[in-house]
Amino acid sequence: MLGGKLLMTGLASFRSGLPIPVMTNSSQVALLGLDRTEIAALVESAGEPAYRAQQLLGAVYRQRVDLIDQILTLPQRLRAELAQKGISIGLPAIEQRFVSQDGTVRYLMGLADGESVETVWMPEGDGGEAGDGSEAGDSLSSTEHVGTTALGRPAEHKLGSAGRGWDRATICISSQVGCAVDCQFCLTALLGVKRNLSAGEIVGQVCAVLKDQKVSPPEDRINLVFMGMGEPFLNYDNFMKAVRLLVQEVGVVESRMTVSTAGIVPRIHDFGEEPVRPKLAISLNASNDQLRTRLMPLNRKWNLEKLLAAARDFPLRNRERITFEYVLLDEVNDAPQHAKEVAELLRRMRAKVNLIALNPGPGIDFSTPAAERVATFQQVLIAARIPTFVRHPRGRDIYAACGQLKRTVAIATMPAP
Ligand code: SAH
Repeated sequence: MLGGKLLMTGLASFRSGLPIPVMTNSSQVALLGLDRTEIAALVESAGEPAYRAQQLLGAVYRQRVDLIDQILTLPQRLRAELAQKGISIGLPAIEQRFVSQDGTVRYLMGLADGESVETVWMPEGDGGEAGDGSEAGDSLSSTEHVGTTALGRPAEHKLGSAGRGWDRATICISSQVGCAVDCQFCLTALLGVKRNLSAGEIVGQVCAVLKDQKVSPPEDRINLVFMGMGEPFLNYDNFMKAVRLLVQEVGVVESRMTVSTAGIVPRIHDFGEEPVRPKLAISLNASNDQLRTRLMPLNRKWNLEKLLAAARDFPLRNRERITFEYVLLDEVNDAPQHAKEVAELLRRMRAKVNLIALNPGPGIDFSTPAAERVATFQQVLIAARIPTFVRHPRGRDIYAACGQLKRTVAIATMPAP
């Protein structure tokens, strides 16, 4: 809503020639983040014919240009005029790339006000899609149908990804600069929260990565997970606007998106009412209130009873399940007894569980359990008939894995040229 108000000011001043306020930089209006109606209003206020709106939308969201001057469908005169009015594309600048041995790429994205966030590219995914009953999850089994090599790579490639060595890819997106939810095992928490990202900055991360990787949904099978820095449900309006733009303008398939929340209960209710929405994942991380409050202090406000009531009420679509994420911390929340408690909590829910062994980091006072402990935990849940998957850490060597996003730049891995 705030964005809407600022935009209106922006449109008025577009006409009058006064400086245009925006969320992140007072002298610029970014096209990224504007929807069809807002772009149409901007075109009208500039006294241009209505078809220009479609040209702008196509250039920004499908062609993903980074400069107004690259929109060749617009006459030179108009390009100059837009630039002169302080209108820009607003694509985040890729400041650094860290490339993992496993193919994961962690991007450091520079924003207009000098802040930065991280976005992660995972060829062959592990945004935790397996078994969620959706198109994103099912792509795992369809990969298996075409036959996988020892490396887990498809023997045959489909769609636009042919020859690239991956069949699908997942982009992990940030929603805030830092995070206000003080989860004790997460590196992002150590940053605190600086500010919300605008819708344009959220969509912009996706556009910048698609451009860099030279891929395009829906031809290329791209999954999105809102699981990077920040708590999406504490930046709800911008996050939801970004979702709509990603589906309607960028072409991302709705059922291939998942948002993860630490458990902001009122927003879980709102989210259930959205006509266009990603799938829901909830970071459970503990099997009882005492433990959860210790690991995730927000549990004092929204305890397990409230959280699970919201999950039970959540209107699921056909074949959809809620994912519960559970970070396993050695000797803290990873005993078979904890798994039994989790099974009890999730009884009769259309749920699946994603287990993540802790990704370690400096300043984090927990350790990673041995693989056998993870496997035992999984077996207890499976025995209770809860579909349970172990997420493979991606890009740990470059601090790109879950909970490791902290804008770490001083690591040994060389950035790509
Ligand atoms: N704020 C949202 C999304 C970001 S965290 C949320 O809390 O869900 C994405 C996932 O990474 C969460 O499930 C979180 O519990 C998990 N995570 C955080 N720190 C981690 C760590 N050090 N190792 C493994 N997973 C971690």
